[in-house]
Amino acid sequence: MLNPDTSIQYIKGVGPKRVALFERLGIQTVKDLLYYIPRRYEDRSDFSPIARLRIGEQNTVVGKVLTSGVQKLKRNLSILKVAIDDGTGIIYAVWFNQPFLEEQFKIGTKLVVSGKVQLYGRKLQISSQSYEILRSKDKESETEELIHTGRIVPFYPLTQDISQRRIRRMIKNALDNCLDQINDMLSQDIKDRYNMVDTKQALLNIHFPETQKDSESAYRRIVFDEFLLLQLGILLKRASISEPQLGIKHQNKGRLLEQFLKTLPFKLTDAQHRVIDEINRDMTSEEQMNRLIQGEVGSGKTIVAIAALLISIENDYQGAIMAPTEILAEQHYITLAEMLSHLGIKIDLLIGSTPQKSRVEITENIRNGITDIIIGTHTLVQENIKFKRLGLIVIDEQHRFGVMQRNMLRKKGLNPDVLVMTATPIPRTLALTVYGDLDISTIRELPPGRGTVSTYWVSKSQLQGVYEFIEEEIKRGRQAYVVSPLIEESHIIEAPIVIGVTQLFEHFKKERFPNLRIGLLHGQMKNEDKEKVMQEFRENKINILVSTTVIEVGIDIPNATIMLIENAERFGLSQLHQLRGRIGRGRNQSYCILHGMPKTPEAQKRMTVMTQTQDGFRIAQEDLEIRGPGEFFGTKQHGLPELKIGNIILDIDIMEIARKEAVNIIKTDPELSAKKNYLIKRNFLQSFKHRIDLVKVG
Ligand code: ADP
Ligand code: MG
Repeated sequence: MLNPDTSIQYIKGVGPKRVALFERLGIQTVKDLLYYIPRRYEDRSDFSPIARLRIGEQNTVVGKVLTSGVQKLKRNLSILKVAIDDGTGIIYAVWFNQPFLEEQFKIGTKLVVSGKVQLYGRKLQISSQSYEILRSKDKESETEELIHTGRIVPFYPLTQDISQRRIRRMIKNALDNCLDQINDMLSQDIKDRYNMVDTKQALLNIHFPETQKDSESAYRRIVFDEFLLLQLGILLKRASISEPQLGIKHQNKGRLLEQFLKTLPFKLTDAQHRVIDEINRDMTSEEQMNRLIQGEVGSGKTIVAIAALLISIENDYQGAIMAPTEILAEQHYITLAEMLSHLGIKIDLLIGSTPQKSRVEITENIRNGITDIIIGTHTLVQENIKFKRLGLIVIDEQHRFGVMQRNMLRKKGLNPDVLVMTATPIPRTLALTVYGDLDISTIRELPPGRGTVSTYWVSKSQLQGVYEFIEEEIKRGRQAYVVSPLIEESHIIEAPIVIGVTQLFEHFKKERFPNLRIGLLHGQMKNEDKEKVMQEFRENKINILVSTTVIEVGIDIPNATIMLIENAERFGLSQLHQLRGRIGRGRNQSYCILHGMPKTPEAQKRMTVMTQTQDGFRIAQEDLEIRGPGEFFGTKQHGLPELKIGNIILDIDIMEIARKEAVNIIKTDPELSAKKNYLIKRNFLQSFKHRIDLVKVG
């Protein structure tokens, strides 16, 4: 007798060799087999009487074997012909080079065959694509069940060594023997709410549906279960982090913030106001804030972060900003110093290249509380950095940091509030999954008065025109970025030659733009040289900055209105979008020019999408669809689990309801100890055993 947890080796016809094959597909137990979901279905349910077959089309016939025989046509070609009679006519089913099948088709055997029907002379012939011999399962009742044809037939993702017929038979066997023992973990009210079928029905219909619709509702139910467990995992993880952690209860004084806002040359957007309110609410509550702000590049996240810092400083706390690169840290330092020093706020910068002498002094300032805001890179998590009273941590561009670094910095205070900023906007539900341990604020609108960015995709022949255009813009006082993926020229034979920034720089300086001031920036330069170049570009002493992607994040130079991206086909969509975010920051019209020769359809799609839209959310969505979530996020540090069944993008609507129900469940039963949640808990524990990567969330 089989049960769901038995190894598949106890299924009839499965020996040790097959066990190993199935293990590679992730199938060990009968339950794994039941949850092995078809990749597609084929409708072979449409039986036709032989007298009324549609010639030239796919048909399914059922009848009895009249005669059979093998003809040898050539040395390597034999043909098995089986005459089938269904009472309305006769058809010849043919198989090529499979003479050994003949012994199955004894005269009188009842047979179903699907395939293409053709007329040869006056003889009907069907080239068998699939067939099935009808045996009565139970001789007395004469019930006949089809699994390979004569119905909607499942097709599974398989390796060569396992046939579709075999796995169908095994799954049928497992369903026949074990379905009764599978319990439904959902309460009736959840199922009613979303009109969901029960587990037994779902498992039956996912494999052997009567109709297309049956298979769809089965899929919905099974994916819902998977997503529900995932969302529970995220919520429980989060509960265990934040529950015992009361944080700092900031007072809402608001004077400093008000003062600051008055000095700004612009009004906050509605989105900025809303997000600052959300932050304010978090910070003045007893609980520790763990909030993510996601928003388009240039949407004004920095101002929002400053507002949060001011709340903390007004309460006599210190704030820290951690940026992923030194350039970005410096950029923040310049911005904040400019905006805040007149308010009497002491800001310091601590990065790898900070000279030893200042380092000692700054470290001391942090320790005794003289520094109000410290800005740095991962330097800030070093052990010797101690704060007097750390109240708020701002982490910029979090996709560069591991969760661990976030936690290390967090430990430097007594549960300080945490604000994470990311310019990788993703659809909300996906964000809930990826950043499950954070509350999310989204800024979708850009501040008004921005010039738009027009994006063009050009080929080599248009490049001279582009250069002339750059010269004209520079004559009008603007500046340009020219970006290439590599530092040095690549000489890989036969690969498209990629121009390195060093060569471009030389070429521009000596040949193409001898009268302009050209700057060079890449990651292997010394920090002080990098900083010098950035400073000169900022002051418009450099007209064209030739750079690798080090300028990708955070650089804010409104006067730069042109970006030419060389070898654009080499960049991912999100990266192109990030790069483009460096221009269009001032009032002037900006231009992004993609130069590249994409070879693959995906690369072409990326270029086209870029010329079509500036909406970061749409771009993120497209990027996800082109690349899939795993690659999109680069590493597994997000704890995005491998979903076995559901698709995080296509099934986002199911994810949404799963999220809602998971919240409901945790709200009333945070430890899943209620009797009615017993099965959910059991499945949860079982499924998370394998999801090592999810454990890294938070
Ligand atoms: P992000 O950090 O989201 O990329 P920033 O905060 O750096 O964006 O803002 C980009 C630019 O827009 C900065 O020069 C900033 O001063 C300006 N800015 C921010 N908010 C507004 C606003 N409400 N109106 C006009 N300009 C704004
Ligand atoms: Mg920014």
